[in-house]
Amino acid sequence: MTRTPIDPVKLDKLAEVAIRVGLQLAEGQDLVLTGPSTALPLIRKIAEHAYKAGAGVVTPIISDEEVILARYRHANAASFDKAANWLYEGMASAFSRNAARLAIAGDNPMMLAGQDPAKVARANKANSMAYKPALEKITGFDVNWNIVAYPSPAWAKQVFPDDAEDVAIEKLANAIFAASRVDLADPISAWKEHNANLKKRWSWLNAHAFASLAYTGPGTDVTIGLADGHQWKGGASQSKNGITCNPNIPTEEVFTTPHALRVEGYVSSTKPLSHNGTLIDGIRVKFEGGRIVEAKATKGEDVLNKVMDTDEGGRRIGEVALVPHSSPISQSGILFYNTLFDENAASHIALGQCYADCFINGKSLTPEQIQAQGGNKSLIHIDWMIGSDKIDIDGIKADGSRVPVMRKGEWATA
Ligand code: ZN
Ligand code: ZN
Repeated sequence: MTRTPIDPVKLDKLAEVAIRVGLQLAEGQDLVLTGPSTALPLIRKIAEHAYKAGAGVVTPIISDEEVILARYRHANAASFDKAANWLYEGMASAFSRNAARLAIAGDNPMMLAGQDPAKVARANKANSMAYKPALEKITGFDVNWNIVAYPSPAWAKQVFPDDAEDVAIEKLANAIFAASRVDLADPISAWKEHNANLKKRWSWLNAHAFASLAYTGPGTDVTIGLADGHQWKGGASQSKNGITCNPNIPTEEVFTTPHALRVEGYVSSTKPLSHNGTLIDGIRVKFEGGRIVEAKATKGEDVLNKVMDTDEGGRRIGEVALVPHSSPISQSGILFYNTLFDENAASHIALGQCYADCFINGKSLTPEQIQAQGGNKSLIHIDWMIGSDKIDIDGIKADGSRVPVMRKGEWATA
């Protein structure tokens, strides 16, 4: 028997946590599962746990790096404005029939690094447009959904470039297992406790009903207005089909919807952002009336500006999230080159689409009502990290009074 760098017991626990904590898959529920071909061992384990939990039909949709690169190498020009609309229509149809959604992250973060940025942008745009009907059912939280990660070889080498491949995979696997709490004796009850802690934080924020948050720190001096009727969330939450799930594994954030028109000042990023194979670093933007009127980056500035020009909402923000600097992912000191992990290492904001569920009665609001209350609308949703141990955040109430929320990157209250 050959030794595998990925602990099979922990991998099995990760699959179990994805089904029982992440999705809380219901008896008889179908499951649409997406992931890279490199993640087949986890895809198989997830299918096993899904059927053990009573799944109807599990349908895996597998992507492959070589197939994607073949397109960039050999496809004709017209290919880059096309997308598999039929597939996304099918996914949207599955979600309207109450299928759950599970995505496995683990793609090579630098997969498209050497490709023509114009082709990448066109292909992404075509894909985003085709994906929209299905994505709206996820962002609108129609069904229970979940993302977990798998330590694919190229990703592992990106995170640990100085190690041999099997060592890098083992290190990344262990980092994923720790962050996903599957290295603990009882991951299911560990998640219950973690969800309760997150609930304590978002309940406190909701009770204060701040009108805005003011951030100060190196390169950052910004006031972020919060949307009218916003509510804070984090950890487990209930989807429209009545199932309480944990969409992100791992997760350390509490988050809400900012007001698309009420952001003023300067923000600097505190960690690099890996976006479709490009590393964007040293971001510094200026907001006026909620819109980014100036964006600079020491690396990837072109890509940043291009992606923000996807549509009108691409230069406005749709999410504001708070993560203490002491979060386990932050303390691991690892840059994962993957938003699922890196966004949980620091407080962040996201360019683009807001989450309808971050409004009081959000599930029953129309897209027009959400927009009227300040929710942003865009084809993109890109999180970037603005938190560190040097950031102070105050909550500002409607009457102008201020309450400390975070000091030096940590919660200001016990
Ligand atoms: Zn977030
Ligand atoms: Zn986000």
